[in-house]
Parts: sequence; C-alpha cells; structure tokens
Amino acid sequence: MNKNLILVINCGSSSVKFSLINPEDGKTTLSGLAECLSSSQASIKINQKNNAITKKLTSPYDHQSAISLLVNVLKQEQLIDKIFAVGHRVVHGGETYSEPMLINDDVKATINRLKQIAPLHNPANLFGINVAQTTFANIPHVAIFDTAFHQTMPKQSFIYGIPYHLYQKHGIRRYGFHGTSHHFVSQQAAKMLNKPHNNGNFISAHLGNGCSITAIKDGKSIDSSMGFTPLEGLMMGTRSGDLDPGIIFHLVEQLGYSLKDVNELLNKKSGLLGISGISNDCRELEQAITPDKNCRSKLALIIFSYRTAKSIASFSAAFEQLDGLIFTGGIGENSMLVREMVLSHLSLLNFKIDAEKNKKIRFGKTGLISSSHSRDCWVIPTNEEFMIAKQTNELLAHNINNGEIS
Ligand code: ADP
Repeated sequence: MNKNLILVINCGSSSVKFSLINPEDGKTTLSGLAECLSSSQASIKINQKNNAITKKLTSPYDHQSAISLLVNVLKQEQLIDKIFAVGHRVVHGGETYSEPMLINDDVKATINRLKQIAPLHNPANLFGINVAQTTFANIPHVAIFDTAFHQTMPKQSFIYGIPYHLYQKHGIRRYGFHGTSHHFVSQQAAKMLNKPHNNGNFISAHLGNGCSITAIKDGKSIDSSMGFTPLEGLMMGTRSGDLDPGIIFHLVEQLGYSLKDVNELLNKKSGLLGISGISNDCRELEQAITPDKNCRSKLALIIFSYRTAKSIASFSAAFEQLDGLIFTGGIGENSMLVREMVLSHLSLLNFKIDAEKNKKIRFGKTGLISSSHSRDCWVIPTNEEFMIAKQTNELLAHNINNGEIS
C-alpha cells in the first residue's frame, strides 16, 4: 500500500477539524469537522468526493468519540493504511518553537507549560494530540505552531511599552498568530513573482473571523498585528481588536462589569457583531446594508475596512521596498466590497483597485486586483491544512535524511 497521505488535525475545546492531504500536491482526499463536542448535540461532518455526510456522535460525545468515528470511515474507505503521519495545528509555541516539531514527551510538556499564556487553545490542542497518538500509535506526529512563523520578529516589534521584567519573567510580549496562513500566502506570492521563498517583501492581510496583518520581509515575519493574545490589532468578527485599555478599567470600576464579563464582551460580543448588532458574518452584513444613513451594518463594514487600511499603512513603516499586498481569509478572498473600501484608503501608498478584476477574483480564485498603475495587490486563498501537511512532510524527510528517524 502506497503511504502518501498526511492526516491534519486542528483540535479546539469543543471541535476537531481534520483533512487527509497529499503533501506533494495538496490534494485533499477527505475532510471534515466534529462540533459541539462534550454535549449531546455533538456531530461529525465528513466531506469526500463532493459528498458530505453528517452523523450524530454517540456517548460520551467527546474528542475520542469523534476520532473513533473518523477511523471507522477511514477503514471503510481503505484510507487508513495510506496515512504515514499526523500534523497537528498547535496555537502557541511561545519563544521555544520557531519550527515544526516532531512530537515527543518534551514537546508535549512544553505545549502544556505554555497553557499559562494560551489557556484557551493549548490544552485543547494537547488533548487532541494525546487522543490521536493513542489512535494512530505507530506513525510520527508533528506539531505546527501558529506563532512559529512570527518568531523572527525583532524586539522593536514584539516588546510592549510596559516594564521590561514582565517580558523577562512572564513572557508578556507580542507573539502574533495566523502564522501558518501568512507564511503560506507569502510563499505563494513569491512564487507568482518568480522569486525564491526568502526573497519577497509583502504585507499580508488575513481577514476571516479572526483578522491579522503581517509584515513579511525576505520571506520572514517582521511584525504582526495580533499580540500576546489574538485579541489585539484589527477589528474582527466578534473581537474588538485594539482599544484604549482605560475602557477596561471604566467597565469594571464604574459600570460594574466583572473581568469575566469584559473578557466575554471583547472576545465574543464586539467587532462586526458589536457594532452592527446583527451578525459577525460579513456576508450577512453586506446583505443587510440599507440606504439609511444610520445603517449600522454599513457602519460596521466601514469601520472594519478603515481600521484594516490604517493597520496596513502603519506596517509600511517596516519596509524600504514593498512587492505588494495580499488579501486572504474568508473576507479577504471573497468580499469585493471590503477589498474596495480598504484599498480606497491606501492611495498614498499607491494601491489602486481595478474594479473589473476585483469582481472576478472570488470563491477560491487567485489573482491580481490592482490596476496597472498600482502597486501590486493580490487575492490568494489560504490553505493552512496544506501548509501543515507540507511542513510535516518536510520535517520528516529532513529527519530521515539525517538518520534521526527510520
Ligand atoms: P475563520 O477565521 O473561522 O477560518 P473564514 O476565513 O472562513 O473564518 O472567514 C469567515 C468570514 O468570511 C465571515 O465573515 C464570512 O462572512 C466571510 N465570507 C465568506 N464568504 C464570503 C463572501 N462570499 N462574501 C463576503 N464575505 C464572505
């Protein structure tokens, strides 16, 4: 049996996303999502050959139930023996990991230690690793960290203006997230310019439910808008992004909010949802726009776009020369309106949209949306799963060549 597939797993606290990918060509044989884990609503959706099946999970409705059901499907489809490795998305690698890592007990202990600074993500990621290692016991497992790509940022980008000992003793600094996505699209952009990976200067805007901007110089991240947590920077679907920290004191001291309430407010009830009062979903807001000058769906998108443009403009300070701007993520890849509004603020940087091209590049297409007199601006669909599979494969090939694994 030809073992040519990697299983990519992204495990959250109540969900598991998975894809079975050929790391050479990025072809996805099967993918899916288990949701609402730990509740009796738990279900799993599996997509294969343009066909989607959804099944209810059985008790105890947990990650193990989801992986067991996936394994049954993989066996039925005679795919299980084609898997030669598992690549895991891990959110936080702290300052320890700037590269993919073969998972062993030390790596797991570090991921566990880093839950101090990533309490929402690392425990779930580690849980997924343990379940998958038990199920796929005889193949290597590799961790790909969301923060790793940003470990090349210089201190001027990652140190906050607070007492330095908080960085030294407690690791409070900018880490940056969405690294796998920014890395992938910047490599694709370099390829389009016929440049080697380590020779492109780009600003990349990942606009999905979470949103971040990264400055990439010579193929390396040199600054990014998300910070110590994914709450900093751009306004997002439900997250506030940057705001005056004084608002938090005011909410707590004057308005009686608890810290838990503030956390919920800034992470889950703000951003597009908070301003529009309707939805965090860009599509729904575009449909809800009315000519009324008080239309809050429109206001939410105007603010979202202006703040994205301001952040892009501020990141231009990181460059002496810039090859172009990349839009990616669900909004960046699909919303003609947001792309047009963002670029309308960036004429000083010589970004000008070509309306016809902008209309055509959507739904998974890659292409230039800038006019012929403009600095280049591309839409490049992200593919974090493929990047995880590719990096897993590269690490294993490197280790085999060095005799580290057989
Ligand atoms: P996540 O960060 O969860 O991976 P995505 O990258 O899938 O999210 O992005 C989700 C966002 O993309 C949502 O706001 C959604 O409305 C938006 N989006 C998806 N398709 C379109 C579209 N055709 N037009 C406008 N926005 C879209």
